[in-house]
Amino acid sequence: MEQFEKKAVLNFNFSESERNTIVQSVISDLETIYSAPREELKVSKVFSKEKAKDAANAFSFNQTNDAKKVLLHTINGIKGHGVQVTHPSYLGLFNPRPNFPSIMADIINSYLNPQLAAWSHAPYASEIERLVISEFCKKFGYTEGNQDGTFCTGGAESNLTAVLCALQHRFPNISEYGITNYDKLPTIYCSLESHHSIEKAARIVGLGKRSVVKIPVNEDLTMDTEALHDQIKIDKNNNNYQPFMIVGTAGTTGAGAMDNLEEISKISKEEGLWFHVDAAYGGGIIVTGIKDLMKGVESSNSLTLDLHKFFSVPMATSLFLTSNTNVLHQTFGVRTAYMPEDGDPNTVIDPYVHSIQWSRRFIGLKIYLPLAIFGWEGYSKMLSHQIEMGRVMRKFLKENGWTIKNQSELPIICFTHPDLEKDYSLVQSIVDQINDSGETWMSTYPIKGELTLRVQIANYETQVEDLEKFISFLSKTLKKNLLTNTY
Ligand SMILES: *Cc1c(COP(=O)(O)O)cnc(C)c1O
Repeated sequence: MEQFEKKAVLNFNFSESERNTIVQSVISDLETIYSAPREELKVSKVFSKEKAKDAANAFSFNQTNDAKKVLLHTINGIKGHGVQVTHPSYLGLFNPRPNFPSIMADIINSYLNPQLAAWSHAPYASEIERLVISEFCKKFGYTEGNQDGTFCTGGAESNLTAVLCALQHRFPNISEYGITNYDKLPTIYCSLESHHSIEKAARIVGLGKRSVVKIPVNEDLTMDTEALHDQIKIDKNNNNYQPFMIVGTAGTTGAGAMDNLEEISKISKEEGLWFHVDAAYGGGIIVTGIKDLMKGVESSNSLTLDLHKFFSVPMATSLFLTSNTNVLHQTFGVRTAYMPEDGDPNTVIDPYVHSIQWSRRFIGLKIYLPLAIFGWEGYSKMLSHQIEMGRVMRKFLKENGWTIKNQSELPIICFTHPDLEKDYSLVQSIVDQINDSGETWMSTYPIKGELTLRVQIANYETQVEDLEKFISFLSKTLKKNLLTNTY
């Protein structure tokens, strides 16, 4: 036995007491940030590339460095040189404050590293994922025997999975010959307000941007379904196109518009097209009192649901659900000799033949734990609170002279002010000043060609007092800008 090899391995592992000390100091630092009083933590600030780069270059790889020092430096780096999305005054881009059980899930996963490529490597974890998939299918109204799905890393991967499944369904030979073998361009239909990951998916599968047909929207920014149907009929009569898929968006990213899923479902049935619902963000309402806004979702062929948005789970967690129980296997069923065979594919599902990923993390644990601890009821209350905060925000804005520009039940508010309608260039400048101040972080969104201010509530800890503070700061910033302007 060569002595030096054994020693190297031991150093890589740290001693149990070293690990205990490190875990305690890391968790204590993280807890200080996670539970910091609102006043103590800035949401954002003016970031410097120089300073961020210096911080990133603090340790040389050509020497060993003290573990505790490296870890604490990393935490401070993330805290000091980045937007604090877990702060109750962060009013930005769907990024949630992760709930505590789901944080524990990430820790458990990293310690034990269960491998979910093949069922036989992780039967318990695999069965938990199947359970959660079937429970979510039920929520969205997929009937028993018509429930399938897979966990993905985010809405973009879920939407890519949808495009692949829709192609497989329409062109069964695709797994053998690919899609080079067509004379009419397969086309996907979605609204002008839909998410750009659909376009990205079209690029990835080799169809290109041209294959995504963007349908105009109504006054309320939902897809104009008459225009949709007309366009499909026109394209079917055109020798250059062959429609295969419609994507309805349940809660658009910019303004929270809910496409009319019932109407889209009818059209897709009539025209024989795959109906996918992109409910990445808005799908959360299915556990709340306003779930009827998603009526029609039950007759969709597939669905995207991000859990790292409305469901307050850490990044890289989403679902792809489908009511077609064969399509995932048809699309991804690549078997190899070196992977374990799990016998009857009717009773056991190997995730690696059921999805894009091969080696895979136990993603499902991040939603299983909060569900097992809080239950649907807990989630319903938490999401309803955020929806309620959205309503309060709309009310406060109106009371303070602001004009709401989008119609949505979701906590996404796009707004402007009569004084800004004279000069839209001020909108971006005001938002930049607000974000630089560190009081909050918000975005802008163009509605019908006019830039609006946009806030979105993704934090279950955001309370009325945070909204009041925001409105007061917003109004002050507006006033300051109007005063320094010439009119
Ligand atoms: C956020 C979003 C996506 C993309 O999801 P990621 O999780 O960021 O990959 C897709 N569609 C809609 C409607 C979204 O809001």
